[in-house]
Amino acid sequence: MFITFAVLLFLNVYTSTTSQELFYKSKETSMIEKCRLAATEFSSLEVMNTSTVTGAVSRMESLRVTRLIVTDSSGKAIYDSAEKSAVYSYILLPEVIVALDSNNVFSWNYHDGVMHSKAATPVYSYGTLTGCVYMMELDAQQGALIESLQNNILTITVVLEVVVILFSLAFSNASSVRLRRIMSSMRIIREGEYAHKVDMGGNDELTILGKEFNDLTDRLQASENKRRQFVSDASHELKTPLASIKLLSDSILQNDMDMETVHEFVEDIGKEADRLNRMSQKLLSLSRAESYEDADCEIIYMAPTIERVVRMLDAIARENNITIETDLREDSPILILEDDLYQIAFNLTENGIKYNTPGGTLRISLHREVDMGVLQITDSGVGIPAESLEHIFERFYRVDKARSRKSGGSGLGLSIVRGMVERNGGEITVESEIGKGSTFTVRFPAFDLEKVDE
Ligand code: ADP
Repeated sequence: MFITFAVLLFLNVYTSTTSQELFYKSKETSMIEKCRLAATEFSSLEVMNTSTVTGAVSRMESLRVTRLIVTDSSGKAIYDSAEKSAVYSYILLPEVIVALDSNNVFSWNYHDGVMHSKAATPVYSYGTLTGCVYMMELDAQQGALIESLQNNILTITVVLEVVVILFSLAFSNASSVRLRRIMSSMRIIREGEYAHKVDMGGNDELTILGKEFNDLTDRLQASENKRRQFVSDASHELKTPLASIKLLSDSILQNDMDMETVHEFVEDIGKEADRLNRMSQKLLSLSRAESYEDADCEIIYMAPTIERVVRMLDAIARENNITIETDLREDSPILILEDDLYQIAFNLTENGIKYNTPGGTLRISLHREVDMGVLQITDSGVGIPAESLEHIFERFYRVDKARSRKSGGSGLGLSIVRGMVERNGGEITVESEIGKGSTFTVRFPAFDLEKVDE
């Protein structure tokens, strides 16, 4: 607003100065011209005295000025159209002094609605300065014109300034109404109403702010939905082993059963407790996967970690009559948290054993695809139905609940894997055929160690 004011003020001063300057230029030319004409007339006089000059002035009919003074070279008045009595006295007007110094001079001022223009030129006779001509004009018409011009500019400026003030007030009022709308929406969201949307209208920065705000609430809503789903899934999953433990312990207490059955029931209670333990550990890994800090990431080759996983699971594989084959020759360095790589490979290998068939194989290989380091785990197991493929990475999702539970599954392994792969900048895909087996492929951006070293 201050800038607009300054601009208007500048325009006002500029236009009024320009209009006055235009007037000055045209007036100067005409007054000096008149002075010169008169000076030429007087220089042709044989002698310059009151009577010869009066005669010459009466011959110059076109010379319409308010006051005409002619002086001799010393500045003494020879002729004064306004004050006859001033003749023979010295004229000390600044214009006369300048003209007697052999210069043409023009000046003007404006007061009480009247333009005062003054001009003077020297008079020469045969090359010698013999006096000067001084003219003064009062011009009420020009004065009125300038005054009305200045008044018009002033009026326009005032009107524009008022309009600017009104616009600014209206604009800031509209903006503050819209800001208040966003603030009240923020309060609603703070209360947990994530479905709330703000409608800003318009097409400016506040509209963009409104869109960003709605985007944010959408994300809050999505993460709140996920959180609720997780809590309800987790409590459902924890409820099942707890209910079994309760049922088994109640049966032991209420029924008069033989020691062998009691032993069996207590063993089952122990298994359910183990399951709870495994589940809580997986939930912990899941929450670690979600609160990720990349500070401990390092560039490593994948093979040593994969070999560690194979050593760990080889005994279980052999127990289930599964052969693990590895081909880790085409290895690539990748940027990853080593614990994550271990967990990813562990979960996928463990699944490859759990969902395999006795006598089956599990093939783990590494290879390079352009700028990606690829880990591939292929089993010859039961396979995954096509309609389940898009769900297996969801928390607590299990294709065959009974089989998964029997093998100690919680439905969390693959969601942990996907979380870890993605936070390390990789991607995971799966292909499967029922009865033939499944292939899980994990791709990470590969690092060219030579370039990194440079
Ligand atoms: P779980 O603890 O039940 O194994 P996961 O998240 O690891 O949980 O796997 C989700 C589901 O995907 C499993 O219950 C299983 O039905 C299916 N699945 C995972 N890996 C394989 C595999 N290699 N072969 C067949 N089915 C698999």
